[in-house]
Amino acid sequence: SWSQLVTQFDVAAKQFHLEMTKPIGRDWDVLREHLAQAQSVQETLDQQVEMVAEDLRKQAQTAGTITLNETQRLDRIALSAWLVISALVLFMGIVLRQRAKDQTQLYRRAYFDADSGLPNRTRMEDDWPPDRLTKGLHALILVKLDRYRLLTGTYGHSFADQVVVELGQRWATLVDKYEHAVGLYSFAEATWAIPVVDSRDRTLSEQLVDELAAMTLERIVIGDRTISVCSSIGIALAPEHGFTLETLARNADTALRISEDQGRAETTLYEPEMKAATDAFLTLESQLREGIGRGELELHLQPKIQSQRGTFESAEGLVRWRKNGELVSPGKFIPIAEETGLVVDIGNWVIIEATRMWKMLTDQGYEGFVFAINISAQHFQADDFVETVGRALTQSGMPAHLLELEITEEATMGDPAALIARLTQLRRLGVRLAIDDFGTGYSSLSYLKDLPVDILKIDQSFVSGIPKVEKDATIVQSTINLAHDLGFEVVAEGVETQEQAHTLRSFDCDYLQGYLFSKPLPWADFLNFLLQNPGSGLSASAQTSDKHLPPHH
Ligand code: C2E
Ligand code: CA
Ligand code: CA
Repeated sequence: SWSQLVTQFDVAAKQFHLEMTKPIGRDWDVLREHLAQAQSVQETLDQQVEMVAEDLRKQAQTAGTITLNETQRLDRIALSAWLVISALVLFMGIVLRQRAKDQTQLYRRAYFDADSGLPNRTRMEDDWPPDRLTKGLHALILVKLDRYRLLTGTYGHSFADQVVVELGQRWATLVDKYEHAVGLYSFAEATWAIPVVDSRDRTLSEQLVDELAAMTLERIVIGDRTISVCSSIGIALAPEHGFTLETLARNADTALRISEDQGRAETTLYEPEMKAATDAFLTLESQLREGIGRGELELHLQPKIQSQRGTFESAEGLVRWRKNGELVSPGKFIPIAEETGLVVDIGNWVIIEATRMWKMLTDQGYEGFVFAINISAQHFQADDFVETVGRALTQSGMPAHLLELEITEEATMGDPAALIARLTQLRRLGVRLAIDDFGTGYSSLSYLKDLPVDILKIDQSFVSGIPKVEKDATIVQSTINLAHDLGFEVVAEGVETQEQAHTLRSFDCDYLQGYLFSKPLPWADFLNFLLQNPGSGLSASAQTSDKHLPPHH
């Protein structure tokens, strides 16, 4: 009957409301049931309203007790009740559908990588709970794109992400071919995981690894740009290297790190002895992080000689880490710092330290002394890099043209438009720019001539060949000539012998730097060096008059 129907709807709606307003743990199936009930009430009502209205009309006509007007009024009341209920049912439906959509989105966000759409690590852990491992997981393979950070540094995030997505698709296609490779997961930044179930015939998984390894050196075309990327592989086997996915993942990651350290496109199978090595890496990383905080970094200075004048008017700052009283060379910790992003913190410290040293030197009466510092590619591309340099200059009062930034050839690779934009910003600031380690990368002078840089530093590998390796001397000589034609100044680094210095002077090399003159020195020793050597302590005016004197050497 009518009232039964209304009560039935009332109950459904109230329960729906009750379930909806629960702060947590809403049961969506229960909600859907209530909606179905409300809908069935609505449908029955639909017929009922029709029937009641018809009934009333007949009664009114036969008995003549109520007017047609009144029938219509009753009709309208019944209709309104039906409309209200229909509206409520519709509303409940909309709420449920929206919630279902939100839930799918939440689910996608929780379980899938936003860029590639691949299932993520959380999903992998859910797919492989500890008790499922006994059901035959045989290996966990990790694949990682090498030097992802450098890629983002030189080409930008969106390009690097496209590379990652493209690579992911290639791995996915490969994994699809092997039915015992049970999926491809996005595991970490530019890192994928492939769980492999036991195929009994293990050669199948070996084949998978072989194919994967063959694909670690890949050419990728994105837009009108083609780049070569390489990837490293780490593998852990079950059960010998772990019973849970967590242990397997950790050990495969250890193997992966070894692959990365060994160079490019390597594949490594985990061995228990490896744990110690990566533990050492992680320890060093956290020690470095703390060390930076505790002020354990030092900037040592290596003087450069101006070869015509024979004077020391500039120096290169080289960072050192005083760890437990002993000096650690940058060759040991800069690679770690680059991998962990700490290199940006180090670089920011170096910039400030160099301007601070300039101030101290100026306060002692040295004028116009030039400080060169090394800037890693990652730091150079950072959004706030120009601002950081500008602020350090302003705060110390150091004139911009006395600061030289050495960037490696590597940092000049990548997106030429972005590179030129960045160099131009720095130029506008007034700092001088040097290309470090020139000759070790792939850039040519014809490429460099279009870049707004001032100085070329010829890598010590060429200098050390002088004069024995005739080819090196020829390369150095023609590089210097060409560089001069293009308006660059030239610095030769790693000068260790008088013979090298003599040859380089005869090639008209502008500055010489190396152990022959001095090793990189801590601040106090550096001051002593300047006191004892020509060119130091010169005022700006003395320096200009010195220009007309013959060289000291
Ligand atoms: P680099 O910029 O090419 O620096 C020159 C390296 O050669 C320095 O090693 C220096 O001590 C060494 N050297 C100088 N003269 C001679 C010589 O006559 N013979 C020989 N055999 N070596 C010489 P160092 O200080 O160990 O630095 C190594 C590298 O670490 C640097 O190469 C640079 O790439 C990086 N580095 C140093 N300081 C910093 C820094 O503050 N920031 C960044 N990002 N990297 C730095
Ligand atoms: Ca350098
Ligand atoms: Ca160098």
